[in-house]
Amino acid sequence: MKILVTGGAGYIGSHITRQAQRQSHDVCVLDDFSTGNEWAVKDCETLRVNLLDKDLLKKCLRGRNFDGVIHLAAKSLVGESIINPYTYYENNIVGSLNLLNEMLRNDIHRIVFSSTAAIFGNPRTNIIREDHPKNPINPYGRTKLVVENFLNDLSISKKLSAVCLRYFNAAGADPDGELGEAHDPETHLIPTILNSYDRAKQPFKVFGNDYPTPDGTCIRDYVHVNDLADAHLLALQKLQNTDGFSEYNLGSSVKNSVMEVIKTCEGVTGRPLNYEIDEHRLGDPAVLVADNTKALTELGWQPVFNNLDKIIETAWNWHKRLSM
Ligand code: UDP
Repeated sequence: MKILVTGGAGYIGSHITRQAQRQSHDVCVLDDFSTGNEWAVKDCETLRVNLLDKDLLKKCLRGRNFDGVIHLAAKSLVGESIINPYTYYENNIVGSLNLLNEMLRNDIHRIVFSSTAAIFGNPRTNIIREDHPKNPINPYGRTKLVVENFLNDLSISKKLSAVCLRYFNAAGADPDGELGEAHDPETHLIPTILNSYDRAKQPFKVFGNDYPTPDGTCIRDYVHVNDLADAHLLALQKLQNTDGFSEYNLGSSVKNSVMEVIKTCEGVTGRPLNYEIDEHRLGDPAVLVADNTKALTELGWQPVFNNLDKIIETAWNWHKRLSM
């Protein structure tokens, strides 16, 4: 397939691009490199475009006949979205509208959209199915839900077919060691723990230990980034033969608390972690875990990195390489 990956220089986008190349797809990356990394994109056409730059976007996509678009280009930090909602609404919603407009103008009718578990807000059930009520509690989640709803509307008017993939906690790194998580600033749990080994005097901060969970720390569902990448390619494959709108929750369906992640990091690295308990972080629900049954059955998705040890081992290998 000829695939356009927007945000293909970012953490998840670059892993999708690499998996697509391994499967011999013809990939083009579109990224403004505001948070993505040039080193993360290799051996493919790259369009340096910000989705808010309508003229440049129009010029770059004119006459392009992609079989489908995997759309990740967006801002994605919950805390930042609370501080600066305008930037989130503009980048994530207006940017997506601009992209969709150009796709339709160029007769490109298939999109896999990078969504998030944040659209569910505070869960009402322990395990979240696709039909769980959607009630995001932060601007980031709200912007993703607006785009999901718009894609649904476009699919009803038969203009486009879409698959929305809601990621739970993407983690780990490509086992080949050339790609991994490298945000600046880094806020995600596993890389932040691993980074804190390099700053022995600054303890790692656990954001709250009085949540209604067995050990008081937040529970999340960590899913390996290459498994996520595989799901995107399966979703695009599905769109070659199926019209309409569909949605999948992408997680491992395994629950891990922050304390369990710390213990696993200690096991993998063989080093005790210096940590302290801090305040709750704004916008953090206590538990977010996926029911991944629909993705397994309908997409034929088979996550390979199916336990936290394996995920953290790949993240640790990448971390050691980065800090060399
Ligand atoms: N977390 C933490 N300390 C950190 C970073 C994260 O205690 O320095 C916690 C955070 O409160 C959440 C979990 O780790 O419960 C996962 O956070 P992350 O930012 O990785 O992903 P999120 O679930 O917010 O998408």
